[in-house]
Amino acid sequence: MASAHLHAVPPASNTLVELYAESPLPTKHGVLRAMIFRERGSGKEHVAAVKGDIRGFEGVPVRVHSECLTSEILGSLKCDCREQLEHALDLVGASERGAVIYLRQEGRGIGLGNKIRAYALQATGANTYEANRQLGFGDDLRRYDVAACILKQLGVKSIDLITNNPLKIAGLQEEGIAVRRRIPSMASSNPHNIGYLRTKRELTGHLIELDKSTA
Ligand SMILES: [Zn+2]
Repeated sequence: MASAHLHAVPPASNTLVELYAESPLPTKHGVLRAMIFRERGSGKEHVAAVKGDIRGFEGVPVRVHSECLTSEILGSLKCDCREQLEHALDLVGASERGAVIYLRQEGRGIGLGNKIRAYALQATGANTYEANRQLGFGDDLRRYDVAACILKQLGVKSIDLITNNPLKIAGLQEEGIAVRRRIPSMASSNPHNIGYLRTKRELTGHLIELDKSTA
């Protein structure tokens, strides 16, 4: 690992990822600009779906979203990621400008296989955080340096972050991103995710407003 860095470009926050490709993309949320950023070293491809002209603007609506194959592809009801992603794309698509940054960090950063192992533990009674700890992981291994690097390359002056997660706001601010305000992200409960949503709210201070019937 160390030798790989010997001849590398000098470390600078703007070299963590580089823009690899971009194209207009017609979507049900309108025409977005699909921008693919490649992470140096791992080659991981992160996505920015951009609406309109955002460079140099203040208060650009932005969601920083971590991939969730189980809900977004398989339709899992164990979390609310797919709905939050759809809500953000709807919101950005309906705005004059905005962006959804889609990060390839499954399962709060532990990977898909370990996420499914955690689900297996949850099926025997552990909550989402206990399950991660039983597998030897911290509560949340998500990182925001990649998102911050992408946002800097997109040239936004400040963002209105679409989130319920105070840690995400703090994480981006620590990486030098100006967060002007928070736009609440949609969360809807069902019998499968109500425990997950409550745990998220109670243990990590997520600003989730649950339906009165289920809160
Ligand atoms: Zn999810």
